[in-house]
Amino acid sequence: MTLVALQINGFKSFGEKTKFHFEPGITGIIGPNGSGKSNVIDAIRWVMGEQSAKNLRGEKMQDIIFAGSSSKAAVNRAEVLLQFDNHDRRIALNRDQVEVRRRLFRNGTSEFLINNQKVRLKDVTDLFLDSGLGRHSLAIISQGQVEAIFNSNPVERRSIIEEPAGVAHFRLRKQEAQQQLEQTDANLYRVADITQELA
Ligand code: ATP
Repeated sequence: MTLVALQINGFKSFGEKTKFHFEPGITGIIGPNGSGKSNVIDAIRWVMGEQSAKNLRGEKMQDIIFAGSSSKAAVNRAEVLLQFDNHDRRIALNRDQVEVRRRLFRNGTSEFLINNQKVRLKDVTDLFLDSGLGRHSLAIISQGQVEAIFNSNPVERRSIIEEPAGVAHFRLRKQEAQQQLEQTDANLYRVADITQELA
């Protein structure tokens, strides 16, 4: 699985459609302070499902929509598209090319699409689980994160290792199953109550 392209339109400082093509090897993005380098990483994080405006260095999610500049008016929609080569099927979809797209409108409406099909946030999160590319995975290392890893306790360090090791997926499924069991227990309790009342 390789990230082959990133297209940003109306996201943060990218008021116009901008496409990055990633060739094999290392890609570096350079530019003066405040020119939008970190916004590229924010865009990748966001399209992969980031739900916290704070993690994207904003106060509310609408802050990510291009707010205008001296040469261009503000826009009403942010859109980011990631294109992967999936010949190795590392992403669990039987497709050679996988596209993930996220849109946010100023009225708060948002949508996710995988290969042009509307999906839920959970579908995007699940798609990247175990691929080593989740939005909180070590595929994206922000400023200060290296220090945070050094300073983490053993439990935190374990959770850091779990995602690339492919265990995070099972942990999430276990949590979901536990919640369902608790709900079923509560339902059974209620049924027992009603049966007693009717007896
Ligand atoms: P540095 O090298 O200092 O870390 P950088 O190149 O990483 O800087 P970013 O932090 O990515 O720069 O971008 C900051 C720029 O993005 C600022 O000029 C800011 O005004 C602009 N910006 C952020 N959000 C928006 C928005 N919603 N609309 C327009 N511009 C925005």
